[in-house]
Amino acid sequence: MAACIFCKIIKGDIPSFKLFESERVFAFLDIQPLAQGHALVIPKYHGAKLLDIPDEQLAEVMPVAKRIAKAVGAENYNILQNNGRLAHQIVDHVHFHVIPKPNEKDGLGIGWPAQETDMEKLKEYFKEVKAKM
Ligand code: AMP
Ligand code: ZN
Repeated sequence: MAACIFCKIIKGDIPSFKLFESERVFAFLDIQPLAQGHALVIPKYHGAKLLDIPDEQLAEVMPVAKRIAKAVGAENYNILQNNGRLAHQIVDHVHFHVIPKPNEKDGLGIGWPAQETDMEKLKEYFKEVKAKM
C-alpha cells in the first residue's frame, strides 16, 4: 500500500535499522523505543489489523520475535500487537512489538483492570463465543 509507512520501510524507501528479512517477514528496531532493544516484527503483506492478514503470512512472525528476544538478550520482555485506535494502534500495518522489560521503569507499563467475575455470566458468554469458534 503506497501511503503506508511500514510498506515504505519494507521497500527501502524509508531507512530502518533492519534486523531480519525473509520472503514474508521484516523486522527492525522501533525508532521511539520503550526500552533498549525494542523492535517490531511485521508481515510484508499489508493489512491494518490482525484479522486482515492471511494465516500463512503470519507463520514466521513468532519465530522471528523469539530470535529478536534472544539477540537483544532480554530476560523479561513483552510481545504486544495493537489493533485499532482504542487499543493504542497508531501505524495501520500489522506489527508485533518485542519490548524488553529490563527494570520497573523502562519497557511497557501495563494497566490490568481485572473485573469481578460473575461465573453465571462467564458461563453464558463462554457458550456464545464457543459456538462461533
Ligand atoms: P503502535 O502504537 O502499536 O501502532 O506502534 C507503532 C510503533 O511504530 C511505535 O512504537 C513507533 O515508535 C514505531 N514507528 C513509527 N514509525 C517508525 C519508523 N519509521 N521506524 C521505526 N519505528 C517506527
Ligand atoms: Zn503497509
